[in-house]
Amino acid sequence: MQGVGFRPFVYGLATELALTGWVRNDGDGVYVEVEGPKRHLSSFAERVVRDAPTRARIQHSSLTWSEAEGFETFEIRHSDGHAPPTVVVLADGATCDACMAEVRDPNDRRYRYPFTNCTDCGPRFTIVKGLPYDRPLTTMAGFAFCDDCRREYEDPLDRRFHAQPNACPVCGPHVELWDAEGNAVAKRNEAIHQAGQALREGKILAAKGIGGFHLMVDAANESAVARLRRRKLREEKPLAIMAGDLDQARAICTVSDDAAALLASPESPIALMRRRDDADVAPSVAPGNPRLGVMLPSSAFHHLLLEAAGRPLVATSGNRSDEPICTSNEQALADLADIADVFLVHDRPIARHVDDSVVLVDDSETRPVRRARGYAPLPVNLGRELPTILAVGGHLKNTIALAVGSNVFLSQHIGDLDTPRARDAFENVIRDFLDMYEVTPELLVHDLHPDYASTAWVERLSRADERPTWAEALADIPRLAVQHHHAHLAACLAEHGVDGPALGVSWDGTGYGDDGTIWGGEFLLGVASGYARVASLRPFRLPGGEAAVKEPRRTALALALDAIGERAFDTAAGTTFNASERTLIASMLAKGVNAPVTTSAGRLFDGVAALLDIRQTVSFEGQAPMELEAVADPEERGTYPFPLVTDEGERPVLDWRPLVEALLEDRTGGTSIAVVSARFHESLAEGIARVVDQVEAETVALSGGCFLNARLLRRTRERLEAAGRRVLVHREVPPGDGGISLGQVAVAAAHLASREER
Ligand SMILES: [Zn+2]
Ligand SMILES: [Zn+2]
Ligand SMILES: [Zn+2]
Repeated sequence: MQGVGFRPFVYGLATELALTGWVRNDGDGVYVEVEGPKRHLSSFAERVVRDAPTRARIQHSSLTWSEAEGFETFEIRHSDGHAPPTVVVLADGATCDACMAEVRDPNDRRYRYPFTNCTDCGPRFTIVKGLPYDRPLTTMAGFAFCDDCRREYEDPLDRRFHAQPNACPVCGPHVELWDAEGNAVAKRNEAIHQAGQALREGKILAAKGIGGFHLMVDAANESAVARLRRRKLREEKPLAIMAGDLDQARAICTVSDDAAALLASPESPIALMRRRDDADVAPSVAPGNPRLGVMLPSSAFHHLLLEAAGRPLVATSGNRSDEPICTSNEQALADLADIADVFLVHDRPIARHVDDSVVLVDDSETRPVRRARGYAPLPVNLGRELPTILAVGGHLKNTIALAVGSNVFLSQHIGDLDTPRARDAFENVIRDFLDMYEVTPELLVHDLHPDYASTAWVERLSRADERPTWAEALADIPRLAVQHHHAHLAACLAEHGVDGPALGVSWDGTGYGDDGTIWGGEFLLGVASGYARVASLRPFRLPGGEAAVKEPRRTALALALDAIGERAFDTAAGTTFNASERTLIASMLAKGVNAPVTTSAGRLFDGVAALLDIRQTVSFEGQAPMELEAVADPEERGTYPFPLVTDEGERPVLDWRPLVEALLEDRTGGTSIAVVSARFHESLAEGIARVVDQVEAETVALSGGCFLNARLLRRTRERLEAAGRRVLVHREVPPGDGGISLGQVAVAAAHLASREER
């Protein structure tokens, strides 16, 4: 990896042990030759791995002995020539304690300097314009070193040796505060001071961060937060909070030791944690949500801003509703002028957009939800050579992946590909990755769904008048379509280095099945090269198709009509429809018109949430299941009947009809929603265990967005482990569709390998 300070670390260690020789970054790794007394060499060999810099990740190391050459000194040799494509670009890292100590020291030359960084910390991926990772190829190119910074940069024993973004108040970037017309109203420290004051007054601030703009507002000020929501056209989706320090975070959330470590890590993600009952947080921040997403400042800039504000701030992506995050001052001014009252900007360009990462913390477990700043573009190493493969991911929560060597480089979160701007961002990331690693893929992989924007993009490559000119080389490359839930299974296996066969429990909202229906509650037995659909949820219809996603009550009515007949109209969901709507929906379902067939587990959650009158309509995907999970009684262990049934000639299906009937009876009998929701979750875990029991597979992989549901994941895992199965859950990539691109690569690599064998 470049930019982790490995060579200076080796230099320091060799010097300390009085060894001579050299260190060099070369092609696929770091080479060191050291000579000296044997016991010092042994000590070196041990410590070079054990004490490696925080941000270094050693994938493999080996040691050979040779004759001494008589070196007089130890030196850092410069690698000649071009950085090879296997070089790993480092992710951005939060400002380290040593740097923050300088920022807080009035006698230090970097006192209150927002862009302080060193070899251990600071921006990387967001400033890299090309490889090798060297200052002229970063967005710091326009800032010439002052003498002091250059001295640090050139001294192997300085902690800023070869820190490419090294800067100070004399030579580095600076901040300015702008009004909504783009007029500078304050500079440097005064700008940060006034920004803090504006936030305390309830104003909305657009602040240029590491990978793009944040929109910030006082998290305790309800009218200010509500105003931000109104202006941003964001109805109910939770907003993240930036707390100034751990104490501020602890005042609003229950912060476990694991969560505290995660918050303070170089990755510095948003951690989703249980909110405290007495948290002084405006209701509009995360309505109906028992969790809050909280992060700590990830740069000196943010530390200073949070200190100036003196309180936790909402810090949400600086964009219009679901568009990509703004990265340039001009774009932010154009796009956010109607939203933000003031702009805190600076003159260091951002090379590419990178959102904040999100990690779910559940007791002792952490699970990635969104992989971006701090993680992207770090690869998942599959431990074997792969063909060069480009995978373009799914449609929602899109990421792309590029396999080079044994690494699968995963892009930052790109998001839902619903808008032209999002699709532009998607295309730019593909171009960016192919440029950065200087490769042309052997195979292009996309989802089986013909209507996904990512699939359509690949299709357009064949048409000369529609493809971007830079993508000409991709026009004739072979393509492979991968089934969505198979990709989920393959992603989970790949990140654990498991070949399988395994039973993939792929549960999510939606994915195109190989029979043309919408899948989402699947049991796939297989490996990366293929699978058999051994079971699923019992299929049902979605009246109105996409409309049912926005209106869980439609799904609820469909489920209830199937389970209890006409009495469905008397349920909480049924009574929300007037007589003519009921007739229409019943006829849609009976005739199968505009009512596609699905086995979606996500929609089953939706439907049950509506039957329990938790939510009849939603403003974002996953809202109803999230609220259903939130109300569940943590102690309740009862279940409803959820049998695995086999009709003639069909695959076995988990029949939810008795489950729906029983939970409605429970409700009618006065059982609380908390208990009914808990029993519903327990039933699903039991149903999964029932299927697993029927299948000859040692290993079970739990993947798909439904496994962000902590209750479902925990209880399913407990049952399966009790039954002696090995259970794989996601640790490196999100269980949701952000992990699809990794699975696509794994499937494609297996496909190419089996073709070669033949
Ligand atoms: Zn540092
Ligand atoms: Zn300087
Ligand atoms: Zn999915």
